[in-house]
Amino acid sequence: MNLQINGINWGMSYENRTPANKICNMILLYGYVTNPMLVETFNLTLQTVTCYTQQLRQNQIIVPGGKAPSTGGKPPTKYILNKDYTHSLGIDITDHNVTFLLMDFMCNVVAQDELQLPFSYSKEYFAQVAKSAKDFVKAQGSLDKLNNYVGVSVPGIVSGNFVTRSHILGLSDVDFSPLGEYLGAKIILVNDSNAGALSEAFTTKERNFIYLSLSHTVGGGIVASGFLMQGKNNRSGEIGHVTLVPYGRSCYCGKDGCVDPYLCEQALLKNDFESLEELFNVFNAGPYNGDLAHSEKFQKAEQALKTYLKYLGMLLDNLSMLCDTPIILGGSIGPFLKPFLPEINKRAVKRSLFADIAPIASGSIEKHPSAFGAALICVTQTIADFQVEPENNEKPAS
Ligand SMILES: [Zn+2]
Repeated sequence: MNLQINGINWGMSYENRTPANKICNMILLYGYVTNPMLVETFNLTLQTVTCYTQQLRQNQIIVPGGKAPSTGGKPPTKYILNKDYTHSLGIDITDHNVTFLLMDFMCNVVAQDELQLPFSYSKEYFAQVAKSAKDFVKAQGSLDKLNNYVGVSVPGIVSGNFVTRSHILGLSDVDFSPLGEYLGAKIILVNDSNAGALSEAFTTKERNFIYLSLSHTVGGGIVASGFLMQGKNNRSGEIGHVTLVPYGRSCYCGKDGCVDPYLCEQALLKNDFESLEELFNVFNAGPYNGDLAHSEKFQKAEQALKTYLKYLGMLLDNLSMLCDTPIILGGSIGPFLKPFLPEINKRAVKRSLFADIAPIASGSIEKHPSAFGAALICVTQTIADFQVEPENNEKPAS
């Protein structure tokens, strides 16, 4: 078995990882590790890896989790992360609401909640978000386990604790540190689509893919060789503002013809539907059920979907030509597109130069992927901070 360590360790190069980082990351990726797995992966002696796992156990970072299948001798002990080591909070901020998601150290979702709260860059807003977050964590009985890091996902370009630009929130070069101060935690800011991409990297273990976030706005995240591509200025994956139709519909960013006005929620709902649930319920009910008002609505839903899928097909072909990777449809619209995947794939192939393009799939985390990704970053950052070193001088192969 030749195990490869994936790159979900946020912002960390292979060279800088300690054995403790590597072991914990392996558990995140494969569900568990055994001492023989570590011997094989890191090319170390059983004595050395046993020393590492013992230290991690003593620090209550890992715990035994049953027996793995035997590879000849005695079945080895599985080690898993101690789920109660810390609980991590992810906060997803949009222009109209805030989502909280609490995750244990094995990345199981403990609880999630939404709060309707229009965004404003103000002390009052940060104080309200922090208070609601603390109430939420307290209600789960997790206050004493809460991680020092809190992941905060925003629809904008981020750099450290600054949002350098967000059209949708109307921000330019603003500091989010006050939110951390109100929370009493170190915040890790992340772009919402990148957070969604990280969620999918974790759940699917795909090493190369494009995550297309189809929500209130459109965004994207590109994962290459297991690492999130961030770009020189943290702007990688701004798929929403790639030109799809020259001189086409006006985009909120100020340009015309961007992907966003063709594939955002409003492109589907227009003024005809209140929510995605309503639109897809009408469509799924079929063309006529004896109710003329329904029939009219159905026609509107059918036409909106037809137009939407046409533009989606064009974009998917462009992305497929560019990266030749699977494309994951996420965001709030992604889960609703699941029944249309055969048609979406057919459309993309029809437009493509190639008959065997990488598949287009829907996201595996249907509820709050950005909040999930924000919480996940706190788990991986905690792991990145571990400095448990071996007692002897034998160093693991990188
Ligand atoms: Zn735009």
